[in-house]
Amino acid sequence: MVSNGILIGKSPEKQSIFISLDNSLFAKPDPTLYPMNILLVEDEAGVAGFLKKGLEEQLFKVSVAYDGRAGLDMALSSQWDVIILDVLLPKVNGWDLCRKLRREHGLATPVLMLSALGETNHVIKGLNEGADDYLAKPFKLDELIARLLALHRRSNGQLAEKNRLSFEGLEIDLDSMEAFRDGEKIKLTAREFKLLEYFMRNPGKVLSRMKIMEHVWEVDFDLGTNVVDVYINYLRKKIDRNFHPKLLHTVIGMGYVLKRDDAEE
Ligand code: CA
Repeated sequence: MVSNGILIGKSPEKQSIFISLDNSLFAKPDPTLYPMNILLVEDEAGVAGFLKKGLEEQLFKVSVAYDGRAGLDMALSSQWDVIILDVLLPKVNGWDLCRKLRREHGLATPVLMLSALGETNHVIKGLNEGADDYLAKPFKLDELIARLLALHRRSNGQLAEKNRLSFEGLEIDLDSMEAFRDGEKIKLTAREFKLLEYFMRNPGKVLSRMKIMEHVWEVDFDLGTNVVDVYINYLRKKIDRNFHPKLLHTVIGMGYVLKRDDAEE
């Protein structure tokens, strides 16, 4: 299991202590309990390769995207513990990518931004776009690892106390079952809440009536009724009618999608 480090002991918090190849010592979560899954968005193949190798030697799992668009697709298509994001990237830069993840897709995954641009204004811009931490190149691998672990610990703590989903101005609290749009509380029935939750867990994805039936009504056959359409209309009246922009859209012949459509504004 441990090929590149030597296991020398276990701390009470189920952490293993390893010696890395350069003989530095550090603690990290036991990978058998906790394989930390990292998305690295970095266009320079040399840097990406070095980081992937260095992190995988410490038993992190690392997937690499080499431009901003691939990074966005990968960020949205899997579950990541932390996203490491370079600033200067082809197609979509790191700042725009971070803003899209946060504001358009409501993704709360911790983001650590990397850049050769170490000046204060770049740091501030990254943090304003929703990054959680920032590291200027060049840096030591040990420092990156320490920050990844700290980010992950912090985000797990936050999840425990704040069980919320957000998209654009919409927010739902999964503990109190409350919904808000632009900070205004919206009264929903239990079924409407479940319907909205399903959309908020799948922003930007077209959801067919059949899929909605399966997830919200928990039946996997066609009831032959328009119950989905009826409930979509109830939900629309509550979350969209008095707000801008509209977020719940019909895709003719396909189903419904929760998205911000700037073309319609
Ligand atoms: Ca770059």
